[in-house]
Amino acid sequence: MAYADMLLLRFGEFTLKGKNRARFEKTVLRHVKEMVKPYPKAAITKEFGRIYVELNGEPAAAMAQALKNVFGIASVSPVKAAPSELEAIIAVSRQLLEIIAPLQGTSFKVNARRVWKQFPYGSLEMNKLVSTPVLQGYPGLKVDMNHPDMELRVEIREERTYIFCESIAGVGGFPLGTNGKAMLLLSGGIDSPVAGWSSMRRGLEVECIHFYSFPYTSELARQKVVDLTRVLSQYAGVIKLHLVPFTEVQTAFTGIGQDNLIITLMRRAMLKIATRLAEREGALALVTGESLGQVASQTLPSMNVIGRATQLPLLRPLVMMDKIEIVEQAQLIGTYDLSILPYEDCCTLFVPKSPSTNPNMRIVDKIEATLPEYARLLDEAVEATETVSVTPYGNEKPRPLVSGQSALQEEWF
Ligand code: ATP
Ligand code: MG
Repeated sequence: MAYADMLLLRFGEFTLKGKNRARFEKTVLRHVKEMVKPYPKAAITKEFGRIYVELNGEPAAAMAQALKNVFGIASVSPVKAAPSELEAIIAVSRQLLEIIAPLQGTSFKVNARRVWKQFPYGSLEMNKLVSTPVLQGYPGLKVDMNHPDMELRVEIREERTYIFCESIAGVGGFPLGTNGKAMLLLSGGIDSPVAGWSSMRRGLEVECIHFYSFPYTSELARQKVVDLTRVLSQYAGVIKLHLVPFTEVQTAFTGIGQDNLIITLMRRAMLKIATRLAEREGALALVTGESLGQVASQTLPSMNVIGRATQLPLLRPLVMMDKIEIVEQAQLIGTYDLSILPYEDCCTLFVPKSPSTNPNMRIVDKIEATLPEYARLLDEAVEATETVSVTPYGNEKPRPLVSGQSALQEEWF
């Protein structure tokens, strides 16, 4: 790919949505500019339906890898540009082949397209005009019009001609944030980061919410969630992460003698707190990494009782996926290695021997209604929430937590 002097980015499915098109294209352009920031020599131009990035010496492969992850981009091609004149087009096509050095026996086809109608030769004519001299230098190349190993594409436009033979698939989807904002419940596990990425790909702006139970869960567990958010931010620019102290709420459920409902109650409490944060931040949905049947709290009866804790749409992008597919996706987006670090999650604390797979809505309602000061506990958790803005190349850390004992020690000495 080192041959390329430009990258050509093509827009994806959203081009079908007529009236929103201009807004969507502008959003992709903004996102592309953000991703190109670490490469200051690169220059961006936008045209109808596509974006060009002139490399000016910046690395083609690394930039193509970064830009194929921009939501709304269908494909990226590293291209060589030539002035739109026959001789120049032939010369640059030959240069491209020399660099790529196709092996003996490779089959080959020129696919020319005349977009600029004033160019004196038509598309079919150009196929011959380019392939004849190009093939002369390569006796090993055979022409195969139907299933060539290599297709040399020649796109003739007024300003210049783009010559390329490679197309890298982009992630597609909708441009970031063009479908509104949602709050992602982000644990340290494998699933929720994937749910977050899937939501962003569908055009949602995402803010993350994490519940932690200090001192039962450690600083490291919290830092791991910051780092997971950082991986997600590589796809989005900046992401807000809300860290909610959950110990008080969680321990309130342990003394009521209904251990099998603790997980149900905990999940509902998370949704209630997340709903308040969503209202505060102007988000219109909650997103979780739940997948049907995966654990006791993800059976249909559990999802039913848990989901009723919020009035907001509860989006579960992974609901029908198998674990193995989720793991593959986590590896692709780069969250897997962090997710499997063995730090404890607040939900693995106080886990009963047999969590209910079929919780009773009436009993759950009754427990919540009679739990002393439940509303106050939820309010306090919202108030004590810390927000960190996490960036792709930053080194953000949450406020340090101090255990009761070391706080006391500080007072004494
Ligand atoms: P994950 O891999 O995302 O942790 P999981 O399969 O382990 O998912 P659960 O632990 O049952 O499933 O959690 C279900 C969902 O609840 C998670 O995907 C996440 O959206 C949310 N969740 C669980 N624990 C937390 C937490 N500590 N903070 C924020 N959200 C959480
Ligand atoms: Mg989990």
